[in-house]
Amino acid sequence: MTRLLRKAELHCHLEGAVPPALALAQARRYGVATDAFMKDGAYVWHDFTSFLGAYDAVSGLFRSEDDYALLTETYLDDLAAAGAIYSELFISPDHAEAVGVGADAYVAGIGRGIEAVRARSGIECRMVVVGLRHCGPERVEWAARYAAAARNPLMTGFNMAGEERMGAVADFARAFDIARDAGLGITIHAGELSGASSVRDALDLIRPTRIGHGVRAVEDPGLLARLADEGVVLEVCPGSNVALGVFPDFPAHPLRRLQAAGVKVTLNSDDPPFFKTSLEREYEIASRIMGFSDEELDTMTRTAIEAAFVDEETRARLLARL
Ligand SMILES: [Zn+2]
Repeated sequence: MTRLLRKAELHCHLEGAVPPALALAQARRYGVATDAFMKDGAYVWHDFTSFLGAYDAVSGLFRSEDDYALLTETYLDDLAAAGAIYSELFISPDHAEAVGVGADAYVAGIGRGIEAVRARSGIECRMVVVGLRHCGPERVEWAARYAAAARNPLMTGFNMAGEERMGAVADFARAFDIARDAGLGITIHAGELSGASSVRDALDLIRPTRIGHGVRAVEDPGLLARLADEGVVLEVCPGSNVALGVFPDFPAHPLRRLQAAGVKVTLNSDDPPFFKTSLEREYEIASRIMGFSDEELDTMTRTAIEAAFVDEETRARLLARL
């Protein structure tokens, strides 16, 4: 029933969105064995470290501009069919360099995919460049400089992901300054595997308009009030949080408490097939298990469009579609 609702997604990692069927097809093409990270057509992992291992193995199956165009088209076609009108994809030029595709070919392939799907379904999509925290401040600054220099109208934001418990957020502030000075939107992963203090640090040191996850802000009432006051938008990913054991199950997930505290929240799938979810399923969970009304779900979609890293003309056009 939520299939009929318009949807928008701000938080999805492109390489984390590979449908298992596409991974299998790519593995056959390149002669790669999949036993280490796939079983019975699904990805297998058991903790955050082995999740990152499976993620890297799947990412390694995409090796050319065409491969990335295919991946982008496959994901966005599914998203558009589920009612989404807007998507932000987290991309990693760093990773593209590491696997030998090269950042420019990687971005060109993703851009082609975005334009192809927009032409047939009308879905808008933007790329948000992600620096990987566990690669250290120098690599994250490299990613920021890459994004800043690109001047690509489809590349509109900067983010940091990866192992949240590694390094102090202050070490990465310079990368975010580079991105902000270039006019890119700013978001950062915090308050997922690390507690409320990581959200506070992100607000103080990075000054983002959005936070990836941020759900553990519930541990600190003062912080909740601050998030509500400052209008910082949380990119909430319930399926990911439950899959990684941040919360034991959906009834225990704090989405409702965050919303009730006046914090701006949105629904997102993060790395959907790794967490046995999809954007559509996140809306279903919020509706059926957490008891959000269709009006409340519409409000979350509107919040996502209002917080999207797009120009004002595009934002107005998207809002008019709700
Ligand atoms: Zn994420």
